[in-house]
Amino acid sequence: MIHDARTDLPEVLEADVAIAGGGPAGIVLALELAERGRRVLLIEGGGRQSPNGGTSIYDNTTSGRPYPLTGSRLRWLGGTSNHWGGWVRPFDPRDFTDAPSGDLPGWPIDADALNAGYRRAAAWCEVGSADYDVGRIGLERRARLLDLANTGFEHRVFRFSPPTRFGSRYAESLDRSELIDCRVNLNLVELQQSEDAVSSARAVTFEGRSCTLRARHFVIAMGGVENARFLLDQARVPGNQAGLVGGGFMDHFGFTPGLMLADAGLQYERGRIAGDDLMTVMAPSAGTEGPNSCVLLTSTAPDDILPPAYWTNRTSGNAAGGHYRISMINAPTARRESRITLGDERDRLGLRRPHLHWHLPPTEFEPVIALFERWMDAIGARNRARIKWTRKTPPDENDNVGVGYHHMGTTRMSADPADGVVDPDGRVWDRDNLYVAGSSVYPAAGFANPTLTICALAVRMAAHLDQRLEA
Ligand SMILES: Cc1cc2nc3c(=O)[nH]c(=O)nc-3n(C[C@H](O)[C@H](O)[C@H](O)COP(=O)(O)OP(=O)(O)OC[C@H]3O[C@@H](n4cnc5c(N)ncnc54)[C@H](O)[C@@H]3O)c2cc1C
Repeated sequence: MIHDARTDLPEVLEADVAIAGGGPAGIVLALELAERGRRVLLIEGGGRQSPNGGTSIYDNTTSGRPYPLTGSRLRWLGGTSNHWGGWVRPFDPRDFTDAPSGDLPGWPIDADALNAGYRRAAAWCEVGSADYDVGRIGLERRARLLDLANTGFEHRVFRFSPPTRFGSRYAESLDRSELIDCRVNLNLVELQQSEDAVSSARAVTFEGRSCTLRARHFVIAMGGVENARFLLDQARVPGNQAGLVGGGFMDHFGFTPGLMLADAGLQYERGRIAGDDLMTVMAPSAGTEGPNSCVLLTSTAPDDILPPAYWTNRTSGNAAGGHYRISMINAPTARRESRITLGDERDRLGLRRPHLHWHLPPTEFEPVIALFERWMDAIGARNRARIKWTRKTPPDENDNVGVGYHHMGTTRMSADPADGVVDPDGRVWDRDNLYVAGSSVYPAAGFANPTLTICALAVRMAAHLDQRLEA
């Protein structure tokens, strides 16, 4: 059932598992646990609908490379899925195994650990298919694409969620479930902790009502910034044995290095392949060096920099050429100094406001530029294509760059407590019954958007918690 805590709030709420945050992570976890017969308390700080008045609760400060944090998180049921774009794809196997480019380690689990989760995640995100295998899809037979044979690059695909607005799409399931007690307008503000566990938690409404949450397990699923902010605000910060709560913030950053003149009608963009809602990109083959970033092509108007004359002058033919803008989505490096900290100012709930220092130095663009150069040479040698640089140097430290609004890495998963905040099950290293769900647990991120993996990890966490509750 969904209740509004402003009018309906007992002094104590109890469940097997208490989850704070009703975005994709929290909603999928709650419904998966209920399907396994577990009693769930799901508290959501916002209401059922958009608050219409902005969300000053999320006000923040930033430093380092400019980052548009304000407005990139939403505070009502469904969370930031209320305006996500719906691009989905699982991480590649190499995202779990590649040696990281920074000095923090990568994933402690491999891609197989998420196979079952990804299949269910596709259903939760209402994606038509969970198949991303270019060979099985028959992509290169069905679409007019560049020839990538022996180039060291491969085609990969993104699929699309409608996009699912998790709050409205699953409100009825939450409301109908007798095992789920979902309270909206109720904010988690404090954990009561012993040395190694959470004994209870305190949640409040904006109007000042308060209640105690009791559960065998507690999960924070409040988004990639709030998860770290909330932990940092506790009198004793859980999982901070390595000083990494808040550290390692990452987002997929953009780079737009060039223009291409090639055959007209290349089918890279979304919606170009009959019967399948796909977008095709190019990425380095497994086992090759450099970041697992991807190259996107978008049709564009002829440009002075690359006039059609370039094409018709070629000896190989006079067919009309097509113009494409080339952009890249890039795998970020996790760095300690890229981090969420707390300021002195407090919000209406008394929580200290977050400060993001986004450390994305110009040197991070060097491997990206080298990768593009490799792609450019390989494509030019194998295809009728002329490629022109439009930007060959890294943006300065304070320049704006494109971001994905993907808040990752601030409560990183690790094989060893010395390298992270949560263990491979998502459990905070030094608290037996406290878990973190969402992209804040990602220690590495390839180029795939985060939400499908958030859902896959939530499915996996539900199976894990179900087993622990059995004990
Ligand atoms: C413009 C934009 C476009 C995007 N496009 C894509 C895309 O195409 N593909 C993709 O994969 N991802 C995309 N994303 C990212 C995607 O929205 C997030 O990955 C996803 O919503 C994260 O899910 P979550 O449940 O972890 O967190 P959120 O969706 O942020 O949900 C967290 C929830 O916790 C609640 N909460 C916060 N604090 C508290 C508290 N103290 N107590 C109780 N509840 C609390 C919030 O109200 C919210 O409902 C996009 C994001 C933006 C901003």
